Amino acid sequence: MNHHFIVLVSLSIFFSSSNLYAQPGGIAGSRPYEPTARQIITEGLKTTGAYSLLEGLVKKTGPRLVGSPEAAKAVEWGRKTMEDLGFDKVHTEPCKVPHWVRGLVEEASIITSDGRNIPINICALGGSIGTADGGITAEVVQVKSFDELKSLGEKAKGKIIFFNRPMDRSKINPGEAYGGAVNQRGAGAVEAAKAGGIAALVRSMTMQLDDVPHTGSMRYDDTIPKVPAAAVSIIGANLLDSLLAVNENLKIKIRLTCQTLPDVESANVVGELTGTEKPEEVIVIGGHLDSWDKGHGAHDDGAGSVHVIEALRLLKELGLKPKRTIRAVLFMNEEFGLNGGVAYAKKERPGEKHICAIETDAGGFTPRGFGVGADSVVFPKFSQWSYLLDPIDAGRITRGGGGADISELAKLGVITIGLRVDGQKYFDYHHSDNDTIDKVHPRELELGAIAIAVFCYVIAQEGI
Ligand SMILES: [Zn+2]
Repeated sequence: MNHHFIVLVSLSIFFSSSNLYAQPGGIAGSRPYEPTARQIITEGLKTTGAYSLLEGLVKKTGPRLVGSPEAAKAVEWGRKTMEDLGFDKVHTEPCKVPHWVRGLVEEASIITSDGRNIPINICALGGSIGTADGGITAEVVQVKSFDELKSLGEKAKGKIIFFNRPMDRSKINPGEAYGGAVNQRGAGAVEAAKAGGIAALVRSMTMQLDDVPHTGSMRYDDTIPKVPAAAVSIIGANLLDSLLAVNENLKIKIRLTCQTLPDVESANVVGELTGTEKPEEVIVIGGHLDSWDKGHGAHDDGAGSVHVIEALRLLKELGLKPKRTIRAVLFMNEEFGLNGGVAYAKKERPGEKHICAIETDAGGFTPRGFGVGADSVVFPKFSQWSYLLDPIDAGRITRGGGGADISELAKLGVITIGLRVDGQKYFDYHHSDNDTIDKVHPRELELGAIAIAVFCYVIAQEGI
């Protein structure tokens, strides 16, 4: 093919298609929006915008447990950050949230039959009651499942129940391994109490061999007595397991001073780029502002919070004006009751129609694509854009996806979408002292923001 031919072909594609694709950024041909996507990628990668935002959040607040003064500061940070960046209609939307506090004491030790005291690292699970002042001391019984616990009968009465089923390492997706183990954390206290147990001790939800306990939410049932619940580190859990193998009558002492205080007022933070042609059609991009009170809450979900701010910043910086509204929402209390997600979905928004909602709550790792919770008819309207994300290897758009904060929108019929990232390390850090900003790589974090910016922009231009 000679040079002139290439020029002629290029010109003819340009002229013939420019009538078909009159939208700004959608250059002629079969791959519209490619130059715009390239622009967004270049602009994002040449800065460390997302990481700078995360540093700002972490410095301002540290961890942001729902109901805490730090969570209130995070709301203020989010509002001010969006205002300073010049987003449209920046405001907060109130919601009432629980206020559980960890307390200063959380300690446990194994008491051997010869009277030795071996400390193990534990932390209270979110929502747990504390122990009596002097703590709880009792024999411990290990189970791998609720069925096994039921089968113990009388043997479980008066005992501390140790739930020690590991996450299944053979799963490709660690999220699936988490899903297969996390009922021990959520329902362990209720199941322990039903069996006559007096406390629940749960193996941390991680595959990483370390000595850091991983917290997370647990729940009570008003018809079942409440017993304290704590997570034990993997090293602590393995030690306890090996000692129980040689001495079934070990005792454990647990002391926790956590408690639940009255609910408090908090808020979601909302800002947008209002659509230029169809402002009433809204695409939500969201992460959650609250975190557990461990580490910095950097990956979970500081990363998601700054992803969505950075995505809007990139579009604004490049002067890209979406036809439909792209709205960033920093949800309050994903971790412990979804109050923000519920409040957002319930609020009356006359004349508005949400066409989809994208959540990022899988950490600030290299993006891989998006999971789209749409049926087979609508799905291709999203998957057709994968080539725009291929340059950053984030073009894997698959069916099925969403997120906890936007699950209430899904119930209203809104198409929900989740950012997919490389998730192999997520549970090393999740809900623990290890979830600090040094575990977040600036370029990986930025790529997540870029992926969201590209995807939400093209949806805003084309609709569904
Ligand atoms: Zn999260």
